[in-house]
Amino acid sequence: MEETTKYVNVEWLRENFPCMMACPVHTEAGRYVHLIAQGRYAEAYRVARAPNPFASICGRICAAPCEGVCRRGKLDQPIAIRALKRFVTERFGVESMIDVIKLQEVLRPRIKPKNKKVAIIGAGPAGLSCAHDLALMGYQVSVIEKHKVPGGMLRLGVPEYRLPRELIRLEINAILSLGVNLQLGKALGRDFYLKDLRNAGYDAIFLAMGAHKNRVLNIEGIQADGILNAIDYLLNVNLGY
Ligand code: SF4
Repeated sequence: MEETTKYVNVEWLRENFPCMMACPVHTEAGRYVHLIAQGRYAEAYRVARAPNPFASICGRICAAPCEGVCRRGKLDQPIAIRALKRFVTERFGVESMIDVIKLQEVLRPRIKPKNKKVAIIGAGPAGLSCAHDLALMGYQVSVIEKHKVPGGMLRLGVPEYRLPRELIRLEINAILSLGVNLQLGKALGRDFYLKDLRNAGYDAIFLAMGAHKNRVLNIEGIQADGILNAIDYLLNVNLGY
């Protein structure tokens, strides 16, 4: 049989797996949708969770760019990828009250400890996802957050009616259960500096402070009294000011 060589490149993936390529963490959405269609819900959950420690949260509030490029949409309407994610996370994710001890039993033996320390500044989605992945790779991880609560914009930007605080707490607890150290109420530049972290023996530092910035409308009167911008408003509400 004649051998053929196939080159897989980004353009090919975009054309053939548009949902996966549109997803910021490249979730194999087509695969978990297919598994759900076969009634293999637990496997579907594992596929959805594999690249994403916040799968349960994404099942509720992701903007679902995967659905925007779903090829089914060319026929009638896109597959409800995000709703299907929520369907499996409600059965097998942190909100299903899966015992965190069980999660540790599954994940911890896979961790091969490394004698390397990483500091992550910011306990938002980027910082905590990084902490999750590095902990699974065996690094000793400390996450340092300036606010008194972890979660970043999940906790301080998204209103509670859209994202229950208990779900955020459970997702973060699952990450911390991997041995991640979390320090709250410590701000870079106020309570410590990068050189302090280097002196404390950290081998790497990941800056994940986020961008708590508004898009400001370029219209007359935008600076007038009584005009609030959305991010400041949400931060004030969620921090209880
Ligand atoms: S809903 Fe969001 S996280 Fe889930 S596959 Fe789509 S883009 Fe990725």
